[in-house]
Amino acid sequence: MSIDRISLTHVRIPLVEPFRISNGVVTEKDGIIVRVHADGLVGCGEASPMGGSFYSVDTPDSVWDALRQTIVPAVIARQPEDAAQANNLLQGLGGSPFALAGVETAFMELDALRRNEPLFRTLGGKEKSVECGLAMGIYESIDELLRSIDRHADLGYKRVKIKIQPGWDREPLHEIRKRFGSIPLMVDANCAYTRQDIDHLRTLDEFDLMMIEQPLAREDLDGHAMLQSVISTPVCLDESAENIDQVTEAIRKGSCKIVNIKIQRVGGLANALAVHDVCAEMGVPVWAGTMPELGIGGAQTVHLATLANFTFPTDVEASTRWFVEDIIDPAIDVHDGMITIPVGTGNCYRLREDILEKYSVREELFISEHRTA
Ligand code: MG
Repeated sequence: MSIDRISLTHVRIPLVEPFRISNGVVTEKDGIIVRVHADGLVGCGEASPMGGSFYSVDTPDSVWDALRQTIVPAVIARQPEDAAQANNLLQGLGGSPFALAGVETAFMELDALRRNEPLFRTLGGKEKSVECGLAMGIYESIDELLRSIDRHADLGYKRVKIKIQPGWDREPLHEIRKRFGSIPLMVDANCAYTRQDIDHLRTLDEFDLMMIEQPLAREDLDGHAMLQSVISTPVCLDESAENIDQVTEAIRKGSCKIVNIKIQRVGGLANALAVHDVCAEMGVPVWAGTMPELGIGGAQTVHLATLANFTFPTDVEASTRWFVEDIIDPAIDVHDGMITIPVGTGNCYRLREDILEKYSVREELFISEHRTA
């Protein structure tokens, strides 16, 4: 394989409503689209940190700098032959998992395009439809939250997830159960509680939740194990599940019964597959989370979620759920709570140049010296 050029396009797309979690609020979505041109094919990836340092220390600016200063020049110079070689190189470089994911997923799509097959087949998935769930941020009022859940009911999402934090947990859950009965329901705390809250968190058992996601700090695996030993609701790890070693340690300690796998958090699809495999070996079911990413990253997550051990609905939602416009054609669509991957090869969703241009913040092109054309 000969890499001709790699382009980076930083886009910023307004959200249809602000997204608020326990760490802060965003009103726009930043994504850096990475396109790797090789042998007449184009593999497309997305590096998708949240604006500010919302979910992690990585920001759109820090990821942009890492890509243009270090990662992309190294990839151009070393000319990896396939996604496996690219991933070896990227793991050696280290740094922001968002930046690594942006490049690695582009190479994974190139692998799929060279085999003339859809990405999910390259990853080892079989189905082309996956279950998806509705994810709700924190709202100003419970009424607003309930109205928002109502608004999305017609798409038939397979479960509802709400963000919680101290002071916003039992009451909204109580009202949701009152209004929507026994719908599949889960909560995500994004690290908002401490070990002092374990007695309080135990009381969430009465809401019959599918899981409680990342209640405690990222590094507090022992605290999560303490909580899991006294709560019936399965604990799911998100922020803590950064790599195979941490996931293995967490499962051994009894810190969780479920793992949320995010392509962006673990630094790409190969790493996501590795975490999936370790969890499967250890008998722990997983599901596919999102930042949420724009359409390219969202679609990659759908492809990933076709693998066998992805047991719970993915957080990927319809494109119209968060973005005033999405960067892909067709947009991600939800019917009866399912997303069906269109027929095609690679990502199967085509990048929309017009939308990229419309919301472009900056762009940079890297041309290979090996280029023969
Ligand atoms: Mg989460």
